Amino acid sequence: MDAVNFPPVPFLDLKAQQARLGPGLRQRLDTVLAHGQYILGPEVAELEAKLATFCGAKHCVTVSSGTDALQIALMAEGIGRGDAVFLPAFTYTATAEVPLLLGATPVFVDVDPRTFQIDLNSLKARIAQVKQHGELRCRAVIGVDLFGQPADWAGLRAIAAAEGLFTLDDCAQSFGAAQDGERLGKAADATATSFFPSKPLGAYGDGGALFTESDERAALYRSLRTHGEGTTRYEVLRIGMNGRLDTMQAAVLLAKLEMFEGEIARREEIARIYDAELTGVVETPARVAGTQSAWAVYSVLLPNAAMRDAARAALQAASIGNAVYYPRALHQQPAYAACHDGAALPVAESLGARILALPIHPDLTDEQAKRTAATLRAAVSG
Ligand SMILES: *Cc1c(COP(=O)(O)O)cnc(C)c1O
Repeated sequence: MDAVNFPPVPFLDLKAQQARLGPGLRQRLDTVLAHGQYILGPEVAELEAKLATFCGAKHCVTVSSGTDALQIALMAEGIGRGDAVFLPAFTYTATAEVPLLLGATPVFVDVDPRTFQIDLNSLKARIAQVKQHGELRCRAVIGVDLFGQPADWAGLRAIAAAEGLFTLDDCAQSFGAAQDGERLGKAADATATSFFPSKPLGAYGDGGALFTESDERAALYRSLRTHGEGTTRYEVLRIGMNGRLDTMQAAVLLAKLEMFEGEIARREEIARIYDAELTGVVETPARVAGTQSAWAVYSVLLPNAAMRDAARAALQAASIGNAVYYPRALHQQPAYAACHDGAALPVAESLGARILALPIHPDLTDEQAKRTAATLRAAVSG
């Protein structure tokens, strides 16, 4: 097969998705331009109601990004100096950046080598270490639903209940995923998601949302996203931030939400093509019983760094989009050197050299997925 004769396979194709959206998107945007309520316009409330219904959560509070959603959730708990926030070492920097910005200490936890999700035994060991050390108070655990797959929330909730920890679901990559028949959104005390354009439900700019079953938390989130305001605009109850989702992005998301279930189903079909074509060739993503992934990312593991780099080069040569999430665990990044206690986290440290993400988006064709798999197969066997 001469790959050079084939058109490129994009890692993400937002233009194709926009074409699929049709005139509904323009109508939504025109409506906003006509009413002119660019901040907290009616589309924001409509979106919050629809997102809450979509995932079965009692409250949805939209915010300016996934990172701000995490920050508002921790601010609402009063988490800061002297507090330990447990989180997986193998995630995007935003998860760990937020506790640090609030003066708290991120405590990195190892991940499972098959699911890439936070490892419950490592979590227990890290909690025990922090308690033994006696300098920090154990306050919260952030479970990340990495790559679209839910973390083990039953296990996380049990540990959090025993230790009195606040549970925060970093669902930035996994809105739309389900576990035990329920969509993510109420697996933790609070759930934070992101509408960054490349996430499963992406806006045309930054955006995010918080979900909770608690009336008190929802009210706090609404106050914190608007400078800590009270019942009137110029009553300042607490220090907050400028953290609202703008009306234009809400309009985009309302248009996209109509197609979202179908898009998750299409991502699942592509994942099955990859599973079928690549089982026995590379390690395909673990399928966890009772869960539906949102398939933000389809990452395979190669046997070693040399084979991963060769596979990556072969995809590159065939103009097939690919990515490495994440080349380094967070505690190995310069920015986190000072806050890490030096604990070894062997799985998180080893994944970066062997992992490789393949294109998976709703506009990928079967042919493109099969060609991607064939190129990878040839690289591994060659
Ligand atoms: C994208 C992402 C975030 C941050 O979301 P933004 O909307 O970009 O701020 C947080 N955590 C994880 C795991 C992410 O992938």
